[in-house]
Amino acid sequence: MPTTTNDTIAAIASAPGAAGVGVVRVSGPAVLAIAQTLLGRAPQPRHAHFAAFRDVAGELIDRGLLLHFPAPASYTGEHVLELQGHGSAVLLDLLLRRVCELGARLARPGEFTERAFLNGKLDLAQAEAVADLIAARSQAGARAALQSMEGVFSRKVEALLQSLIALRVHIEAAIDFPEEEIDFLADPAITRQLDAVRAELADLLREAQRGLRLNDGLRVAIIGRPNAGKSSLLNALAGSDRAIVNAVAGTTRDVLRENLSLDGIMLELADTAGLRETDDEVEREGVRRAHGELQRADVALLVTDIEHANADLAFFSALPPNVERMVLVNKIDRDGLAPYAEQRDHAHWLWASAKTGEGLDSLRDRLKHLAGAGSGEGAFSARRRHVLALQQVATHLDHTAVVLAAARAGELAAEELRHAQHALGEITGNYSSDDLLGAIFGSFCIGK
Ligand code: GDP
Repeated sequence: MPTTTNDTIAAIASAPGAAGVGVVRVSGPAVLAIAQTLLGRAPQPRHAHFAAFRDVAGELIDRGLLLHFPAPASYTGEHVLELQGHGSAVLLDLLLRRVCELGARLARPGEFTERAFLNGKLDLAQAEAVADLIAARSQAGARAALQSMEGVFSRKVEALLQSLIALRVHIEAAIDFPEEEIDFLADPAITRQLDAVRAELADLLREAQRGLRLNDGLRVAIIGRPNAGKSSLLNALAGSDRAIVNAVAGTTRDVLRENLSLDGIMLELADTAGLRETDDEVEREGVRRAHGELQRADVALLVTDIEHANADLAFFSALPPNVERMVLVNKIDRDGLAPYAEQRDHAHWLWASAKTGEGLDSLRDRLKHLAGAGSGEGAFSARRRHVLALQQVATHLDHTAVVLAAARAGELAAEELRHAQHALGEITGNYSSDDLLGAIFGSFCIGK
């Protein structure tokens, strides 16, 4: 992705027709000349001029507002021009063409925000939050993306970075004085400092994971033996009959997904095939996919019944450690189970009936909570790559602790901290490859 910003870009920056107003946005050095031609005189900075937009022959295209935001106090950090006309796709297109005749070229998706990033107006996490805000599917998600765009997440990353650098400086200083290194690294103050950084990171990782759920939705993999009632549960929650409910064991042969919005919180539910050994080719493929599904899940919801509950806990043994575990004892509508149903709401155990719907409200509440509902004012959005970067930082800090404790090896500890700092810097874009930038900004819509 080219990083030169010496040309001028233009795009339609609002959905034409929707609200009666359409916007063409222009950014770059040619903005002043374009504004001057369209207005017939130099525009006043940040002033709404009522202008007649005309084509090259002097024919009227539209009348509307012209606003000039001089560099660097603009969205992109460059001269920016906004032309507000009537929200007609045809008129906006003519206006865009006119602007291009006057020296602009069509912007690529995300190019305005990319320029804002390259000019230091936003860091990478903030730029990503712009896209997440536009794509938000829930109110909670939009609020969280706004917080990240405002820099809430970035400031926490920066604070952690400073703590990390302070620790690194401390340890590197010890390496520079080898005769004192041993004593110095044994100093409990270093361990305390490292522990504090790890605690700070653990908090941030938790918040980022919640931010990821707010942004992406909570991924719930429904697991359990065939006939436990997994498909029935999915149908009951989704209110449709997408999964085939069948009394013959082993009919859910693929992974079925449902997206569900619970009070503005997104859930992605995946009904996996019963995870049993099988000779059936198709079913085996289903089981393989079910295992894959568990690797990407936030929550594994084990559906079982009273007879099999304890034995079925073995399903959890295949889970990666960071997946949240929940047990749903299903079929409590059957005769004689009422007393068990009374004991609802143990920590991770729920009692319900997919058939009658009893107990499903508690399940919904529990899932909403896990998805980040009610996480309050400061909740910010995050992306998977941010969480992965923080997990890498955690690994490097774990290694730092090990080498310090075992060998008092200052060089190794410093090296681990350097890697940790690098991983952290990738979040805000202190260190980023062109490929990463291309992938991030390429997924934006045009005009942003
Ligand atoms: P899966 O193989 O785990 O997806 O299970 P299904 O959803 O296909 O259900 C298996 C059988 O159990 C079907 O005959 C369902 O009607 C029945 N079933 C599912 N949930 C309940 C429930 O809550 N109560 C009762 N009594 N039967 C249920």
